[in-house]
Amino acid sequence: MAGILSAIKLQEAGFTDFSVYEKSDALGGTWRENTYPGVACDVPSHLYSYSFAPNPEWSHLFSPGQEIRAYFEEVAQRHGVPGFVRFGEEVTRLEHRQDGHGVGRWHLKTSAGTRDVADVVIAATGVLHHPRYPDIDGLDSFAGASFHSARWDHSVDLEGARVGVIGTGSSAVQIVSALAGAVGELRLFQRTPQWVLKVENPPIDEVDKERYREDPSAMVTLHEDLSRSFSDNFANAVVDSESVSVKILAELCKINLDSVVDPELREKLRPSYRAACKRLVISPDFYEAMQHPATHLVTEKILMIEPAGIRTVDGAMHELDVLVLATGFRVDRFLRPMEVIGRGGVSLEDVWAKRPSAYHSISVPDFPNLFMLNGPNGPVGNFSLIEVAELQLAYIMQLVDQITAGPYREISARARALDVFERERVEAAAKTIWASGCNSWYLDDDGIPSAWPWTFDRFREVMASPDLSCYELVG
Ligand code: NAP
Repeated sequence: MAGILSAIKLQEAGFTDFSVYEKSDALGGTWRENTYPGVACDVPSHLYSYSFAPNPEWSHLFSPGQEIRAYFEEVAQRHGVPGFVRFGEEVTRLEHRQDGHGVGRWHLKTSAGTRDVADVVIAATGVLHHPRYPDIDGLDSFAGASFHSARWDHSVDLEGARVGVIGTGSSAVQIVSALAGAVGELRLFQRTPQWVLKVENPPIDEVDKERYREDPSAMVTLHEDLSRSFSDNFANAVVDSESVSVKILAELCKINLDSVVDPELREKLRPSYRAACKRLVISPDFYEAMQHPATHLVTEKILMIEPAGIRTVDGAMHELDVLVLATGFRVDRFLRPMEVIGRGGVSLEDVWAKRPSAYHSISVPDFPNLFMLNGPNGPVGNFSLIEVAELQLAYIMQLVDQITAGPYREISARARALDVFERERVEAAAKTIWASGCNSWYLDDDGIPSAWPWTFDRFREVMASPDLSCYELVG
């Protein structure tokens, strides 16, 4: 999504001498990799669209993953993006080197052996893309088919199969809703229950589609309205653990649980932490899926995995044919495992040894002209990442302009600016709902929420124009 966006905006700004490196043989990022049954985006489709490419054909309020991927491919084709993409080339190393005239440039190497040199590098490498495999004894000994949710094996026949799903995050919930009643038996292995907000997913009817086709400005207005409403009721709310909106979200989740689920199962599914502390799960029908006669909730801790299935600590053996690991992602990776060597030989791996951080989520000191989209500390998980990337890219393009048309050769955040940003960020993070007493992928190894801890409005303001006094400018 962010790479396609960059290629479009670079062309619009008049650049033709750029390459997009893509490790896979196709476009689509997260929507190429996540093809599990039920995959969809829980940001409304008319908000989860590029602002410059509204789509009158969205089928649902929350459209399925395949449709989203097709949208990105279509927009990319329409803007001539594939011509700039080098498929099957994973960037393995980036090194900032000075030439004989003291001018620094990025020297890049790929898995295919390509070498390239660039004045500016934009990292659009994504966040939730390195699967986290659970550390469970015997995982490799399982005799049936086993795969991570983001590596779904479509060659496995699920008809009549006994399927186990480990995890209760957004991926697992969508998988369970799609598989309940469609497989022989479904077992959900829950380590921690999740709060689930019920939101229906109606189809968008032909009358509305026709209206959008005839008057695209209606979609622009809708995008703006959805963005405003998402900011006010969700993104701005979760950064203040005492906000009224957070309390309303909590009440709605409680009503969903109490009204839909029968009493015994209900208590097993009831979280003991506050709603939205973990990333809120949104589903129209998860609790119904959990009450299907062939769906079973397993709350006993997993002891080990054996060839026949999962053994829980109470000694019970849960026999399975297929095991789905909906166990999340290594969210602290960002550009890694790429080796990134900045000015003076400093390695990004060392700089990020404690935790990844970037000034305003964009730039790291001593890594000049390397700018990140959806990098560390951005507003991930609570908003449309497309709008996040669009705002970030507009900011980055202003920095690029200083390099290509302006007076500077190298731009990177000042160490002091990052220190101040980090101090304020950690202070603000303590007030967010994510720090209210649960474990989640928002937290770093020290238990500090790593996402943007301020309102989305503040993010918009900050992204409007870079404060060059916070950057080290060479040139
Ligand atoms: P996740 O939210 O990180 O959930 C991982 C789940 O696996 C958790 O329930 C976790 O339990 C469990 N788990 C991990 N290791 C385990 C172990 N060893 N034993 C038992 N359980 C284990 O991952 P995700 O569901 O893939 O979602 C990640 C993010 O992707 C979401 O928060 C969302 O931002 C995005 N996403 C969005 C959508 C959407 O738009 N609809 C869909 C999917 C994903 P604990 O809670 O106990 O740690």
